[in-house]
Amino acid sequence: MTQIKKYDFLIVGSGIGGLSSAVILAKNGYSVLVLEKNNQIGGALQVFSRDKCVFDTGVHYVGGLDPGENLQRMFNYLGIYDALKLKSLDRDCFDLIRLPNGVSYPHGQGYEAFSSQLIQLFPEEEKAILAFCEKIKQICDFFPLYNLELGDDQAYYNNPEILSLGAWDFINSITNNKILRTVLLGSGPLYAGDEKTTPLYVVALIMNSYIKGSYRLVDGGSQIAKLLVKELRKYDGEILKRKEVVGANYGSDKKITSVICSDGMEYAANNFISNMHPSLTIDIFGKDKFRPAYRDRVQKLQNTTSSLMVYFSLKEHSFPYFNYNIYEHFSYDCWNSINDNSENWPHTLYLCTPASSKSEEFAESVCVMCYMDIKEVKEWGNTYNTAIDPSVRSTAYNKFKKEKEEQIIKKLETRYPNFRSCIKNVYSSTPLTYRDYIGTPEGSLYGIKKDFNNPIGTTINSKTRVPNLYLTGQNLIFHGILGATIGAFVTSFNFVNHIELINKIKAYEK
Ligand SMILES: Cc1cc2nc3c(=O)[nH]c(=O)nc-3n(C[C@H](O)[C@H](O)[C@H](O)COP(=O)(O)OP(=O)(O)OC[C@H]3O[C@@H](n4cnc5c(N)ncnc54)[C@H](O)[C@@H]3O)c2cc1C
Repeated sequence: MTQIKKYDFLIVGSGIGGLSSAVILAKNGYSVLVLEKNNQIGGALQVFSRDKCVFDTGVHYVGGLDPGENLQRMFNYLGIYDALKLKSLDRDCFDLIRLPNGVSYPHGQGYEAFSSQLIQLFPEEEKAILAFCEKIKQICDFFPLYNLELGDDQAYYNNPEILSLGAWDFINSITNNKILRTVLLGSGPLYAGDEKTTPLYVVALIMNSYIKGSYRLVDGGSQIAKLLVKELRKYDGEILKRKEVVGANYGSDKKITSVICSDGMEYAANNFISNMHPSLTIDIFGKDKFRPAYRDRVQKLQNTTSSLMVYFSLKEHSFPYFNYNIYEHFSYDCWNSINDNSENWPHTLYLCTPASSKSEEFAESVCVMCYMDIKEVKEWGNTYNTAIDPSVRSTAYNKFKKEKEEQIIKKLETRYPNFRSCIKNVYSSTPLTYRDYIGTPEGSLYGIKKDFNNPIGTTINSKTRVPNLYLTGQNLIFHGILGATIGAFVTSFNFVNHIELINKIKAYEK
């Protein structure tokens, strides 16, 4: 059955990129419909509750939120900033990097705190630490929209060579100190840092944003999605949940006329924006509609690795709340161990105590993330399980999860000796969970892997070869809440005057 109404824009997927694009377009006078396959909106912003704790599935802290910084102004333009429940992480330590010898090193907010604290700990490496900070700032200057600028000769597209700088090579060029290298790149799980592929610009854009304002979302990241939907509705935008798009109809002019959902409903629009992974977009909108060269390039691109997330609900007042994130390293080889599934797994753990409005002294829960390749769960690869399409995976799968949870608890006990006694219950999600809920191939953490050896080939344009189909989300510019929000503006620039839009965002000074 086809719905009679024809929208200016139909957006497939309600991740931060899809919802932000929807709000920008609706705010600029277009009629917009968002279709989301899940029961819960937000994509990686989704949360779940167990034992009265709210667990985030894909957002633990967000950067660029200090007053006047890029994401703060973008969220202001999107109409959500004032209502967000944010908690600034400690100014002198938003990330703590703990090395195999048990010694911890802080990453402070603001370049002064970041560099001066590390220089105190590595006085002989002052030059290297300052060079690291300078290079990060310098690289960020090449990205005009990131700085809410219009773009000039210095923009990265006029200087594409900066995209070919490798982060690992750069670090090696400034210091031979193995400990300092691990400290500077110790938050690598934020971008799945890998010696052979990770570009310096990805590290720069992400680290700079966290240095310039790191915040937790109190009681969960789903508030971002809820506020965006509220804003969308203010401008008469619409959103429908439980609408899985499975195909598209085309007119004689090779333009899409409507999408088809799994329940048989069809929705018509003039333009279509996909917030799905580009490879999935091609599958759903029809392989034969894309030029073979484009289709092959996109579908052969590698994705970042996936993860195992372990969620602990805790006994009351048993474990402290840490107002910073902790990267626990069990090897100095942090950028070369992503795919090591040997008995030493995991080499790195990301740990956070989510911010809750109930207590600032004690943690209600702990979230732990570590790399996991989807091959680890290939035995159950042909099963599918989501809240609206549930199926029970085998007892062998549950046994696998329990074994992995136990490995994580044992690792945690080496750093937090009484941790086991604090646990109320343990839950976990595997690469299959992310694959099924979000639709990212292989349950990838951050979508397409950017590669400094092939920067252009691993970059995705918002325009596709189908005349009225566009892309948005983490795969465009870079991943994360900031990256996908910037991507939404880039997609919207196809329809809204970009100079006016940037000036409006800049007008929010706060
Ligand atoms: C474990 C994990 C931890 C992370 N931690 C952080 C963090 O601390 N800070 C940070 O900034 N970023 C973090 N990220 C990254 C960040 O969450 C993502 O980069 C960002 O949310 C991706 O947004 P997106 O717009 O690309 O859409 P996605 O979140 O990928 O959403 C895509 C949407 O499309 C929908 N969809 C897919 N197929 C269909 C279909 N056929 N029909 C209809 N709808 C469909 C999906 O259901 C989903 O809602 C993390 C990610 C993960 C996985």
